[in-house]
Amino acid sequence: MTVATDIAALIGNTPLVRLKGPSERTGATVLGKCEFMNPGGSVKDRAALYIIQAAEAAGTLQPGGTIVEGTAGNTGIGLAVVGASRGYRTIIVMPETQSQEKKDALRALGAELVLVPATSYANPGHYVHTSRRLAEETPGAVWANQFDNIANRLAHIKTTAPEIWDATAGRVDGFTCAAGTGGTIAGVGLGLKERRADIRIALTDPDGAALYSWFAHGELKAEGSSVSEGIGQSRITANLEGAPIDVAYRVSDADAMPVLHELMARDGLHLGLSSAINVAGAERLARELGAGSTVVTILCDPGSRYLSTLWNREWLLSKGLALPPWFR
Ligand code: PMP
Repeated sequence: MTVATDIAALIGNTPLVRLKGPSERTGATVLGKCEFMNPGGSVKDRAALYIIQAAEAAGTLQPGGTIVEGTAGNTGIGLAVVGASRGYRTIIVMPETQSQEKKDALRALGAELVLVPATSYANPGHYVHTSRRLAEETPGAVWANQFDNIANRLAHIKTTAPEIWDATAGRVDGFTCAAGTGGTIAGVGLGLKERRADIRIALTDPDGAALYSWFAHGELKAEGSSVSEGIGQSRITANLEGAPIDVAYRVSDADAMPVLHELMARDGLHLGLSSAINVAGAERLARELGAGSTVVTILCDPGSRYLSTLWNREWLLSKGLALPPWFR
């Protein structure tokens, strides 16, 4: 047992867990990295810490300063947690369509929450642009800018990738996940390719995102939609630039729901939909790489963040999505 000096020291070093269904069906070893075990409960704690450290190092974030960010929720939670432990104020701008649990969590953590209507990125009222303006108008504030601040992907180059490499003793043949900012896929991809040039990196895109068509056909084009939160990008962010992606898959919500339910029923893993989309992609990658291979993906955040949506009978029925068999 060790004693941590502060919460930041507890971010990362998450375990890998073997996923029964995908491993059995493919004959491969399909592993999930338990990012929901981070102190703020998601993969975004790593980016939040690196963004704060970069602003401190640059001198733009001073003692008692303010961090402003536009986020689907998890980055805001990470910033609020690390911010609190270092004495910073956090202002979070979020689309009002995000889950009530994330809004409640942010308020509970002491973040100041600004809700804006969900609009396209081209609209000046979009949560990202609103957060940038707020940062400019607030004295002593820095804009975290997770989409285009490459301290985000650096966190994954420096921590997530080496952790995966060490935990598998270098026996990892493929990695896949979806992209929100793209920090995870680009950072883990770059970090693993440094160690093994022929490792296969797959992007798993939800419906409604434009990256699948970009990596498959060179055209940014979105089709359909997804109820997943935190993923589904429509542009090449600075974090995504130069991401070493070998292949791209598309996974629909209808395909991801049974995966979400199986992870709970067979593995005891209660998760959000981006994790299930990632695991569906990992099974595909494992099938391509063949029996005996090892594939790693990200288990992004816990199901408790979605008790009023993905894990709520009435909500699922209203969206026409599959119920867990034990809800019927
Ligand atoms: N899953 C969830 C639930 C998220 O909140 C995020 C972050 N937006 C991601 C996946 C994607 O991570 P990244 O921003 O590194 O692409």
